[in-house]
Amino acid sequence: MTAGRTPLVDFHCHVDLMPDPPGFIRQRDRQEVRTLAVTTTPRAWPQNREWAAGSTHVRPALGMHPQVVAERADEIDLFEAFLSETRYVGEVGLDGSKSHTSSLDLQKAVFNRILSACAREGERILSVHSLRADVSVLDAIEELLPPTRGTVVLHWFTGSTKQAVRAVELGCYFSLNPLMLQTPRHQQLVRAIPLDRLLTETDAPFARGSLEEGGLVMVEETIGRIAELHDMPGSQVTSIIQANLGRLLRT
Ligand code: MN
Repeated sequence: MTAGRTPLVDFHCHVDLMPDPPGFIRQRDRQEVRTLAVTTTPRAWPQNREWAAGSTHVRPALGMHPQVVAERADEIDLFEAFLSETRYVGEVGLDGSKSHTSSLDLQKAVFNRILSACAREGERILSVHSLRADVSVLDAIEELLPPTRGTVVLHWFTGSTKQAVRAVELGCYFSLNPLMLQTPRHQQLVRAIPLDRLLTETDAPFARGSLEEGGLVMVEETIGRIAELHDMPGSQVTSIIQANLGRLLRT
């Protein structure tokens, strides 16, 4: 990478679902992409911690994905046991889409335990999924995780603008990918979020196009779209996002 270039940020990436996670981590270190490596089950934590142990740019997160809660709710004990080992939590949250509504009550019980555990430990940073469950996710955060005990980054948020504004008031950040910036409704949503709450993400390998050049294309496209929305140069957006990450990590 060129000296002096502002490093990019990918605050939601499924590193352990890549074909070669250790190789991918080395690539991210070479590319200087500051990456949050989210996981989907507490059982995956020890391996992910080990892979990222020597990395300069990749940080592993302890996760329990809402879409696996129906099958793995009992792993919440393991989640609580591992939580003292990491500052980063994700992917966690609620999924209210059709194929997961049957587990929504169980998902809520698990998410409440996750938020309460984070509030007890303090200083945790969480990457949170809220597909078709924006109101419930924010209700739970408001009730259980005050901003003084932890910070939430809403990943691929597609809820209403009203709830986005509420999330900003609750202290949340947002990690964005270009698929969130394609429709006028979503562009309006992103415009409602202050620039100092924005981060970028790929959700690789799930999001379409997220693997091109190891995700760099996607992060750069997101920056380009935010720059268009706010009528400013992409380099300025890159610096703002870098500064946002710095502030988030200092909280
Ligand atoms: Mn994800």
